[in-house]
Amino acid sequence: MWWVGTSASCKAVAVSCLDIEAADRPIDSSEIARFASFRLTFWGVDFAEWGMSGEPSIRGAVRSHAASAAIASEIGSLLAKKKRHAPKRTFAASNGQASPVRLATFRVPPEASHAKEADMPIDQEKMQPWQWPEEEWRRRVNRVRAGRRLRPRAWKDGARFAVALAFDSDHETNELRDGAKSVNRLAWGQYGNRVGVPRILSMLERHGVPASFYVPAVSALLYPDEQRTIVKAGHEIGVHGWIHELNSGLALPDERDLIRRSLDALEGITGVRPTGYRSPSGDFSPNTLQLLRELGFAYDSSMAADDDCYELMMDGEPTGLVELPFDWVRDDAVYFLMHRFQGLRPYTPPSDVFDIFRRELEGAHAEGGLFELTMHPHVITNRSRLWIVEEIIKHARTLPGGVWFARHDEIARFALEHTATEAE
Ligand SMILES: [Zn+2]
Repeated sequence: MWWVGTSASCKAVAVSCLDIEAADRPIDSSEIARFASFRLTFWGVDFAEWGMSGEPSIRGAVRSHAASAAIASEIGSLLAKKKRHAPKRTFAASNGQASPVRLATFRVPPEASHAKEADMPIDQEKMQPWQWPEEEWRRRVNRVRAGRRLRPRAWKDGARFAVALAFDSDHETNELRDGAKSVNRLAWGQYGNRVGVPRILSMLERHGVPASFYVPAVSALLYPDEQRTIVKAGHEIGVHGWIHELNSGLALPDERDLIRRSLDALEGITGVRPTGYRSPSGDFSPNTLQLLRELGFAYDSSMAADDDCYELMMDGEPTGLVELPFDWVRDDAVYFLMHRFQGLRPYTPPSDVFDIFRRELEGAHAEGGLFELTMHPHVITNRSRLWIVEEIIKHARTLPGGVWFARHDEIARFALEHTATEAE
């Protein structure tokens, strides 16, 4: 049995101990050490201490439980390759208390199965990625893929480029999704409603610019008036999950149920059925595209295979769904988020964030493409930050050839219709 977990002797905040030992059979400790040393260095883990006495044992400091799980899985894979005769091995975590928590189970294929791989039925879910046959990694890559680029020669009214502003009204939902343990972080979410959205709406009105708001259903149910005000002002509301859940952890029926319920909730509050989708935390599952087609969405804005719009492909077939790319480089959260108990701090000053966004904007102008900017009401609206958006709007209007400010749904539709026409 192998154990991975934390140790009470580890005092540093946000650092847990990795403690692995082999108790079920003799294993060459230098083999483990060589491998672990390489992998831990590769992951950038601070390795505090090696203890190699008696039974093979690795001891060191890692940043998180997630890292422990990944390391356990990797070490298990190495041993599986080297010790093919072992039928099964279980990896478990101990949190320093009496009962261990299982992190991962790893099944080692018998020696013979490797030699006669072609004759054996392949259960690819149980295989490691380096064991996949070519058809398997091709299948996974082709599940959701970028198809033809949708960049019209000119945008609406002959504008040279298009600007799409997005505000993801997550409010309290990230903290709720994580179990609502921090009242302080819930309050930060409330700032998004009390301060953030009103400041954004008045700024957009001042400049006469439309925008898209991606709203988790729980945010909308907490603040229905906010959503009605947004729609009344002419902006778009798109689906952004139920409670900012992570799609890749959901079974297909659960993911379908949550997207459908979110659509119904938003429509029930605003009277408008959304046509756009943005996956919470950019977590698009292998089933998400299939569900978006099934539920009648026109476009998605979760992925970044291009700077410009493109048609989404599923299993090698065009879907007719437009991807309006979102990218972390044009996302305020990347630069400004802060977490007390993680090494997450806003290191980039607002002036540098403005510089990055400005260069992305000028690049879109130069290519006659799209500039999409994603922000969060509880992040971008502080008194020291909101000026960034205003300056971007003003700067876009100074660039020659003209700019089209539009909602994501309008841009997706225009890009699809006008690129298709020109290609004919
Ligand atoms: Zn979000």
